[in-house]
Amino acid sequence: MGKTIDRRGFVKSLAGIGAAGVIGVSAPAAFPQTQTATPQRAPNGLPARGDFVIRNAHILTMDPALGDIPNGDIHIKNGVIVAVGKALGAPGAAVLDARKMIVLPGLVDTHWHMWTTYLRCMAGDKTEDGYFPVTTVYGQAMLPEDMYRSTRLAAAEAIYSGITTVNDECHNVRSVEYAIADLRALKESGLRARFSYGPFRGMPAAQPRDMSGVEQLHRDWTQYSNGGLLTLGFTWGGVPADPATPERVADARKQIETARRLGLPISMHLASRENTPPGQVEAQAKYLGKDVLLIHMLATTPAEMKMVADAGSSISSSPGSELRIGYGLTKASEFMDAGINVCVSVDTVPLTGNAHLFGILKLLRNAVNAKAFNEFKLPARRALEMGTINGARALGIDHLVGSLTPGKRADLIMVQTNLVTMGVFTDPVHMIIEATEPSNVDTVVIDGRILKLGGKLTAMMPEKVIADASASLREVGKRLKPA
Ligand SMILES: [Zn+2]
Repeated sequence: MGKTIDRRGFVKSLAGIGAAGVIGVSAPAAFPQTQTATPQRAPNGLPARGDFVIRNAHILTMDPALGDIPNGDIHIKNGVIVAVGKALGAPGAAVLDARKMIVLPGLVDTHWHMWTTYLRCMAGDKTEDGYFPVTTVYGQAMLPEDMYRSTRLAAAEAIYSGITTVNDECHNVRSVEYAIADLRALKESGLRARFSYGPFRGMPAAQPRDMSGVEQLHRDWTQYSNGGLLTLGFTWGGVPADPATPERVADARKQIETARRLGLPISMHLASRENTPPGQVEAQAKYLGKDVLLIHMLATTPAEMKMVADAGSSISSSPGSELRIGYGLTKASEFMDAGINVCVSVDTVPLTGNAHLFGILKLLRNAVNAKAFNEFKLPARRALEMGTINGARALGIDHLVGSLTPGKRADLIMVQTNLVTMGVFTDPVHMIIEATEPSNVDTVVIDGRILKLGGKLTAMMPEKVIADASASLREVGKRLKPA
């Protein structure tokens, strides 16, 4: 196609580039014009992991011992961060030129119902068109292949937007086939993700959860795990706090006991609206722990925050959806003051419009400052921690990702600042929280694989992903039943 550089082919050949290879994102002429004969794809169809060094970047390692490194380098080999520092020797490694770029850990989303993604902006302005009725009506009409197509769109958007890990809270598992279809989309994308096995839209509150599907996935997990990039979790609804039948309480207990027996981490929406009746957190007290990720929590009292902090559970704040749906103003600052690990999430794009996690961090920080009438309440760096290392900690993977530390897996993003929306280069942490858009994300590396380069996805074709999602939504529309 004219003089366009075939970045897809280039990434495929990364493993075969010799010492002189330069991945010149800002200097396309440096691209080798001929492809090598080396194996171009790993057996799972994703780009091969290479041996490359990122040079001349402004690095925000998010590792307290390493700090920020202006004009620094990162050497990545076979998926691992080998070294981080200045003027690294990396003989034989291909070079990614990162002048004028900020390099930081990939963003970690901690709660996203990815299957809802092609219902983008469909939560309307009337009660019957609201988020819950719309996702229920469409969710009931979706087939496994529809789940695949919507989640694949979400995965493409995640990678494009600089998100390298997602907690995919799948709450439309109508049968295990729905989960398997969703997992196929994650696997093909190369994302790092936890698949949190949930209930399904329209499930009657009194109906017991069928745990056989999650038991089956757990038993067969090696065939879904994509070499360890995907892990299994469980979405729990909690012990009902309102007057509930003994059967409902017993079923809730059975669910979490099964999840714990299988060793699955738990995530749960709890006390979501600021005006939720009290007692929700108390009802879960004996089940809280480090393996539990709580979502929203806007009705949490100081005593309950202490309970959560003592248990070591994390809280995921999603101001993009919480503000839009009217749940209230974030309590992220109060949570942090109580000693809780706070992270952030997209939640659902029918409400947020997109998965712009930089924008969600900005919303969170601005809401915290507004509540405190204080320009300085939440420093930008604390917000960035929520989007990186705190998210990794909440998902129990901070030993693997969340900071650019030698020995960790290579999940990172390169943000191009040399554009009219970000220039000139001033305070890099503030630039990330205040000025970065998904389109500024030049390069995305997940587990050492380059999945976005020069602003383009390397392993997915956006036109096809969108066309397939559109066709699926059209077909689902024909199958709709009234709520
Ligand atoms: Zn949610």
